[in-house]
Amino acid sequence: MYLNSAWASLIAAARAEVRARWDEIDAIALQNHEKVLQAFQDAAVGEHHFAGSTGYAYGDAGRDALEEVFRSIFCTEAALVRPQIASGTHAITACLFGNLRPGDELLSLTGPPYDTLQQVIGTAGSSRGSLKAWGVRYRELPLNAERRIDRAAIPECIGPNTRMVMVQRSRGYSLRPSCSVAEIAQAVQAVKGIRSDILFFVDNCYGEFVETAEPTQVGVDLLAGSLIKNAGGGLAPSGGYIVGRKSAVTAAAEHLTAPGVGAKVGPMFHLNRTLFQGSFLAPHVVSEALKGAVLAANLFAHLGFEVHPAWDAPRADLVQAILLGSPEAVQAFCAGVQGASPVDHRARPTAAPMPGYEDKVIMAGGTFVQGSSIELSADAPMRPPYAVFLQGGLFKEHVILALQHVLLEFERMGIVQPPEVLSMYSD
Ligand SMILES: *Cc1c(COP(=O)(O)O)cnc(C)c1O
Repeated sequence: MYLNSAWASLIAAARAEVRARWDEIDAIALQNHEKVLQAFQDAAVGEHHFAGSTGYAYGDAGRDALEEVFRSIFCTEAALVRPQIASGTHAITACLFGNLRPGDELLSLTGPPYDTLQQVIGTAGSSRGSLKAWGVRYRELPLNAERRIDRAAIPECIGPNTRMVMVQRSRGYSLRPSCSVAEIAQAVQAVKGIRSDILFFVDNCYGEFVETAEPTQVGVDLLAGSLIKNAGGGLAPSGGYIVGRKSAVTAAAEHLTAPGVGAKVGPMFHLNRTLFQGSFLAPHVVSEALKGAVLAANLFAHLGFEVHPAWDAPRADLVQAILLGSPEAVQAFCAGVQGASPVDHRARPTAAPMPGYEDKVIMAGGTFVQGSSIELSADAPMRPPYAVFLQGGLFKEHVILALQHVLLEFERMGIVQPPEVLSMYSD
């Protein structure tokens, strides 16, 4: 179905060219896997932890052990890992509302945050529930000319009411580079050098296990992410996690449930084993997705498209942006990915309004877990410059098949032709 010889040989040539990058990715996965295995053993995870819990679920030992595993992986004082956290946005929202009070100021160091967070903060939409409507002020430091955190400008952005700074590690739906842990470490130093009591928060979505250290290992106080992205390893059917200083995690937990109750309630239903196993798989799954992203970057760059990041550039997240330049090409790309999916492969993705997003969004993802983007997915807000964001893939073979399918779709649409392609790798 997929194997057209011209496209298959193009992909084979791309694979050969990225081999050294794939080896580096394997080396990172090995280190992360060792860290995760150690965390399981230190927490003495046992079969008795796989039992489910219901109702209030006071004293769920499995939940405690799972949170101990996350605490250990992220090297923090505390962790909250819950299926009740409905998404990454929800986890981040609990961190913000739990730790900010009216009169406080939140400062973003990475320019405008991810689309859904703008309604949480109140810079978009008109929700009565936003931070802004509640009296929390917000300030944004644009990235510098190199599209990095503008460290030199941090001092003038911090005032007496600055309570929290936030950094988004991943690019989101933008073309800026993702923030490496080293870059985050420098920002932490810059902020803490001014006032050490400012809470440094990181949106870690798509960042887990991409590098050998996590931001909480370089001084970040509070960090959150989604379990249907990297940290759930493709198995988690729902959930999010929050790790960091005990007081800050407790404050987030009290927002999530209720003051005084916090993390002490929260049934795991029958999900403990799945969440343990997903986090155990996560470093490998992330490495497979990264290999797919590197391959896609190489392939589409050879086809003449602008890609971010370049295939041989360092990575701090899973996302591969490919500038396609037109809504039709975005549509064709997404149709190609959807057509190569194990679930709903006959669906034809179209751009539609999505809760939390200002622009229409097109999403391809024939995934086992709805909206899971650690499974192979491609999506794009329908706005110029019409870039598609490709991420995930539980194993690289699926990404390879999907890329072939995208190329066939592009050929059908007259966007690329196979013969011009074959000569690309010959010089
Ligand atoms: C995915 C993502 C989020 C949260 O999105 P959800 O769809 O709510 O899980 C937040 N920030 C970034 C950078 C993301 O990629």
